Amino acid sequence: MSDKPYDHESIERKWVEAWRDPTLYRAREDDSRPRYYVLEMLPYPSGRLHMGHVRNYSIGDTLARYLWMRGYDVLHPMGWDAFGMPAENAAIKNRMHPRDWTLSNVANMKQQLIRLGYSYDWSREINSCLPDYYKWNQWFFLKMFERGLAYRRNAKVNWCPDCATVLANEQVEEGRCWRCSSIVEQRELEQWFLRITAYADELLEETYKSLENGWPERVLTMQRNWIGKSEGAEVDFTHTESGTKIRIFTTRIDTIYGATCLILAAEHPLVAQLVTGAEYEKVQEMIDELGRKGPGDVAKAGLFTRHTALNPFSNERIPIWVGNFVLMGYGTGAIMAVPAHDERDFEFCRQYGIQVRPVIRPIDGQLDNGATMKAAFTGDGVMENSGPYSGLTSDDGRRKMAADAEARGIGNASVTFCIKDWGISRQRYWGTPIPIVHCRACGPVGVPESELPVVLPYEVAFTGKGRSPLANLPEFVNTTCPQCGAAAQRETDTMDTFIDSSWYFYRYCDPNNDGSPFDPKRVQPWFPIHQYIGGVTHAILHLIYSRFWTKVMRDIGLVANSEPITNLFTQGMVQMGGKAMSKSRGNVVDPDEIVTKYGADTCRMFTLFAAPPERDMEWNESSVQGQYRFLTRLYRFVTRNIEKARGPAGDSTGADRKALRKLHQTLRKITLDFENRWHFNTSIAGLMELMNTLEDHEAGLSGGAAAEIVEKLCLMLHPFAPFISQEIWTEELVRSGQLIQQSWPVFDEDLAREEGVEIPIQVNGKLRSKITVPHGTAKEELERLALADERVRAHADGKQVAKVIIVPEKLVNVVVRPPANR
Ligand SMILES: [Zn+2]
Ligand SMILES: [Zn+2]
Repeated sequence: MSDKPYDHESIERKWVEAWRDPTLYRAREDDSRPRYYVLEMLPYPSGRLHMGHVRNYSIGDTLARYLWMRGYDVLHPMGWDAFGMPAENAAIKNRMHPRDWTLSNVANMKQQLIRLGYSYDWSREINSCLPDYYKWNQWFFLKMFERGLAYRRNAKVNWCPDCATVLANEQVEEGRCWRCSSIVEQRELEQWFLRITAYADELLEETYKSLENGWPERVLTMQRNWIGKSEGAEVDFTHTESGTKIRIFTTRIDTIYGATCLILAAEHPLVAQLVTGAEYEKVQEMIDELGRKGPGDVAKAGLFTRHTALNPFSNERIPIWVGNFVLMGYGTGAIMAVPAHDERDFEFCRQYGIQVRPVIRPIDGQLDNGATMKAAFTGDGVMENSGPYSGLTSDDGRRKMAADAEARGIGNASVTFCIKDWGISRQRYWGTPIPIVHCRACGPVGVPESELPVVLPYEVAFTGKGRSPLANLPEFVNTTCPQCGAAAQRETDTMDTFIDSSWYFYRYCDPNNDGSPFDPKRVQPWFPIHQYIGGVTHAILHLIYSRFWTKVMRDIGLVANSEPITNLFTQGMVQMGGKAMSKSRGNVVDPDEIVTKYGADTCRMFTLFAAPPERDMEWNESSVQGQYRFLTRLYRFVTRNIEKARGPAGDSTGADRKALRKLHQTLRKITLDFENRWHFNTSIAGLMELMNTLEDHEAGLSGGAAAEIVEKLCLMLHPFAPFISQEIWTEELVRSGQLIQQSWPVFDEDLAREEGVEIPIQVNGKLRSKITVPHGTAKEELERLALADERVRAHADGKQVAKVIIVPEKLVNVVVRPPANR
């Protein structure tokens, strides 16, 4: 009996080659088995995998391998989210073409994924920057354009005055241009939008229905906040001087008698009329600052317009202000400020010395004093100083006042959403060209379907200056109108890359279809996706856009499902020193180094072992080494005992019973971990405990037990450490086939049960022996066994048993005294 050293390098190299077999991980699609679609979020091909990828894909791969062994027809694909800014930035900085840069990164990262042993069906690989994929982005865009779901309007962009170019949000760093550090301005441009707001209600509703059980609560909450539905009322105030109506949205019309000013968003159309000259420059600065930083990061600021508005309920004149915390995209872009009953209004009005006037008192309390109150009272209560509405509860007041507003023609009950239409125009090169031709006579006209794809031209100059690089290519821009044949110009904006990832998982089901995005018949059996795995950073944008896309596809008649994903799992981050790994922090570990040093199995095991999958995990090289030592021990145990395992079964031994019991207990635990919550960290801890027991009883194992142990150990290790387990299966157990084609072992409930309980036996209070008995052994039987025990008899020899004290399951104490005749 001699063991072999664990040579991870040669073992893993061998299987990497064997697993290149393109049929190995292919889904059958023949309905001979139940289907399971397990999907990990596709990466952006930045060039190198990072540990976050390894964690994400190790979780998915572990699950996929388990499901194969459970007999499912598993769909487990991978692809590339290949358009986007970094490629274009690299082109500007390093004079490398984005396509060349991207394709070489894809090639590198694919080899890394293969080296890590992930079970992807590469025959389904998609790459979003290739025309055979983005053609369908264009096709979908045209479908939405036909239905009025894609439309064009003016919107703000980031503009660098020195580079004279539009900047993506990612190219704006602390309000400055990433290249030249100039302060970024906001400019208006005609841009394309997708009408996601048409689905706002349904997107919200489903978070309470079909997604409620399969998605993390945290993600659903983020989506609900993002959609941000508010029910309230719209009311028309009147600009005193001109009589112009100023419509406001409020969720608290019951507080309208407490409104002490009207506040307009800086971009509200009326502002340019009310504020002029030098004052208006301040408004412009407000707009620029908001564009650079976002509303959450800007200190509250306001500007008095010197104008007033009439409150239609109280007929009171109140001042009109401009405020940077009022957003044009929410409600109507105008609010009434009720500082006594709204925290933000309170803060703003105190800052500018505007009156605070309470009009709601708590049900069983007093009305606050506006001059002295320290914070807004935002709860519902009873209306006071509110004309004919005084005395009503907030709830009744809201209903009655909204109805009255409607009857008087000055407003109505209304619902508003935070979610805005999805701006998809990018003034960049590296994205899907928007398939539109601008004709002087016909306006924007869709490119005919038969002329798709509109191919992104390869030859283009990257100066980082001026308009989108496409606008400088006359041979791309100049064309004829598909409708009237007149000279016309192509759209030069490209699409937001979130479009690519909104529907890619459908394309995996039918990746080579060149007549449509996919055949609904091939897609339907896989949807909604059984399990999607990725980072929580995608909780809103990607995961809302793809839900929207699915609903549009349903309405076009392409799919039957309304939601793309049944179960979502969001794994935690990989950190070092408590912080996310990032190049700028210099706390990055390259997975390749770990794979070279310890092997892919160790690397995968570490990412699964270090923390529960949903939690953040801390990088720790000594824990990596711990996994390596564990696999080494396991390999040595197997190779040391393999001769015995291959030999005759022999008679069952006591060591067998103990080892097999632990084996089946571990199998039961891991099976339940897979079926319930993915406690892969405790599954691996269970395997390590099992190893301790096996080594303890190794010498006494029979051939039969050794054979069962090595086989089951190998099978249950496989989802976590595919290389070493396959090596043992093929080379040590000398079995044919791949482990994913074997059945997941079934645990034996009887074998897994604890055999019995060990009971200490005392004689006159001193421990003299121990016996092991089945659970629930009766008192009489315990007494009989204790008195029959050899060591007890030696101590009781020649003496008289006075009594036997028995604590069931715990203790037997035999009380003896000298014989009476002494
Ligand atoms: Zn610049
Ligand atoms: Zn035309």
